[in-house]
Amino acid sequence: MNCYMPVRLFTGANCLIRNEEALRSLGDRCLIVCGKSGAESSGALGEAKAALSNRGVRFDVFDSVRENPTVQSCIEAGRAAHAFGARFILGIGGGSALDAAKAASVFAANSDLDEDGFYGKNWQNRPLPIALIGTTAGTGSEVTMVSVLTDKLGRKRSIHDERLYAAIAFSDSRYTLSLPVSLTLNTGIDALSHCAESYFSKKASYISRAYSLYGIRLLVPPLKCAARGELPDESAREDLCRGAILGGLAINLTGTCFPHNLGYYLTERYKIPHGPASAAFLSELLDHIEAAFPGEAAKFYGCAGTDACELRELIRAATAGINVFMEPDELEAVLPRWSDNGSVKNTQGDVTLFDIKRYFTKFTLKR
Ligand code: NAP
Ligand code: FE
Repeated sequence: MNCYMPVRLFTGANCLIRNEEALRSLGDRCLIVCGKSGAESSGALGEAKAALSNRGVRFDVFDSVRENPTVQSCIEAGRAAHAFGARFILGIGGGSALDAAKAASVFAANSDLDEDGFYGKNWQNRPLPIALIGTTAGTGSEVTMVSVLTDKLGRKRSIHDERLYAAIAFSDSRYTLSLPVSLTLNTGIDALSHCAESYFSKKASYISRAYSLYGIRLLVPPLKCAARGELPDESAREDLCRGAILGGLAINLTGTCFPHNLGYYLTERYKIPHGPASAAFLSELLDHIEAAFPGEAAKFYGCAGTDACELRELIRAATAGINVFMEPDELEAVLPRWSDNGSVKNTQGDVTLFDIKRYFTKFTLKR
């Protein structure tokens, strides 16, 4: 096991205002990287601006990050940071804005870098320091060294590098109160996938499993509430945020398994949001583990304080909105992409292309 997580994480109500000097420690000029509305409606953007102003940090705002951000948009954010003379990048939002902020910090410090150089890690200069404020309870990107972007071919592609760790991150569940119930479920189910996939990763360890199991314990009750169409109350939102951070800590150590990678295709091709797309194949992971390792599956459910029915019911509710139809020819054409895939190989037990075809077949049969 190689366990390294250097992010200074502040949590709890008002953690940003209570620790605003930590932002100042990163420099006196900052580019805020965020989306059009989430950062603002969550209240995080306003509080961040106040914190920066209180400490004499000058800032500019790049608010053009979209869902499943493109590398190109991160290049633009990097240029904006460079032009402004930013000393650090502050990402505010869900996983999309946080991942874009991580990449922008690389482009800001390496103004000639293109997409290939980015993925090839041909970075001459160290990325600018990164601060992150999460406004969804889902990805756990606050604590991972991962950025998931959309490349020039339209494919979701992740990059892992220790230089992408944030120097500081803030997790305050008050910022998630503006999420409607549908987004609460869509983003929160991603955290559940992280915990379950990490648990059944070949790289799972006693530390990652501790994160996974407690994460699931915290996540299931508020997600069940959201699945019923009810907004979780404030304390349940706090549990969601904690569970999401734990899921991030878990996948940071282990990576994800096949559900996440198969889900990328649903997002690219059918625009299914990341959470439901990842959970679309989570029941298949549970089936696979129950068949291959029944003892391990029973232990997992018991230690996570749940059972197979409860988890499957939750997954069904979170993925009920997925309505895609895939022609059999399309399925045949796309299958080779998983023939040598890291997330598929990271799954405990053998997952073959034949299995993947079977998992996707439900989408060819829907009509
Ligand atoms: P998201 O794509 O960041 O945001 C989804 C939507 O929620 C956006 O429309 C956003 O608005 C809005 N929003 C965000 N916070 C809000 C708030 N507090 N109130 C109201 N609306 C809000 O969703 P996400 O699920 O958090 O992130 C998904 C991305 O993260 C995917 O690209 C996925 O691949 C990636 N991911 C990364 C990691 C990692 O370790 N790096 C792990 C898992 C997933 P705006 O667009 O206006 O902000
Ligand atoms: Fe995810």
